[in-house]
Amino acid sequence: MRNLIPFPSNPQHIEYLVLIRDAKKISGEIDHKSLLVSKHAEIVASYAAFARAIQRNELGTLVPNPALTPIHRSLVSCYSNRSSGVGDLKKTISSVHGLRVLKYCPMCGVTSPTTHDHYLPSSQFPEFSVHPVNLVPCCSTCNSTKDDDWLDQNSRRQYLHLYSDLIPADVFLEVTLHSPATLSGVGATFALSRPTGFRLKDWRLVQSHFARLKLLDRYTERSNAEIAEILESCAEHLLHGGSQPRRFLRGIADRQELIYGTSNWRVQLMRELAASNKFQRLIAAASAGPAS
Ligand SMILES: [Zn+2]
Repeated sequence: MRNLIPFPSNPQHIEYLVLIRDAKKISGEIDHKSLLVSKHAEIVASYAAFARAIQRNELGTLVPNPALTPIHRSLVSCYSNRSSGVGDLKKTISSVHGLRVLKYCPMCGVTSPTTHDHYLPSSQFPEFSVHPVNLVPCCSTCNSTKDDDWLDQNSRRQYLHLYSDLIPADVFLEVTLHSPATLSGVGATFALSRPTGFRLKDWRLVQSHFARLKLLDRYTERSNAEIAEILESCAEHLLHGGSQPRRFLRGIADRQELIYGTSNWRVQLMRELAASNKFQRLIAAASAGPAS
């Protein structure tokens, strides 16, 4: 897991909303464009408050702008698929990160990010419905699990905002290998461990993010298939004249760590497998050919 790449501030974030607003045509009885223009100063003030909250790491204290309540529908309508410019905004968000960073959902690292989560829910903060830093690429599982529940009952944030929240640079995801009767002969379970010096306040948010999205269980569920694939890759490496499977595996882990962060579950799984003597024996057996 790692932070998303900071979204460029040039053009200013508000310009994406202006582009979408100005392309709007009058539909039905509501002139969304005129309503949005009439409240532009308030929208700009809200964008400034959002930027300040991120800068001060006080995102949880942000409250909706009551002056914008009367144009709630017009603000939400900006994110509609029918709105010209939304597709371009999503493409810009993707292009900032490149193909490989967004191969997996940044919130879980498990599946493809086919949706965008409004970190500050558009039902409560319609003013940020097309704010690029409020749109987090993520998978449908993470998106539907988080939904509008960005705060808990005590008004504390429950999920990491991947553009701005602190994620430990040191390893905080631990892998334990065990030997169940699986196809590969090795299984894995995952646990969190607070790195020394990482503030408890920030750590609670990391823990909450993992707990709400059930990430440790999701990693464990997928680990057997992942281990089987890693085993096959290592066996193929040996079968085609390669040597030193530990080094081979660590090399892949090093490269993936640069893209997905130190505590990515696959990266840590590969490191643990590279250190395992049993896994080395399994690789040797697999590369000797199919059992007769
Ligand atoms: Zn996800």
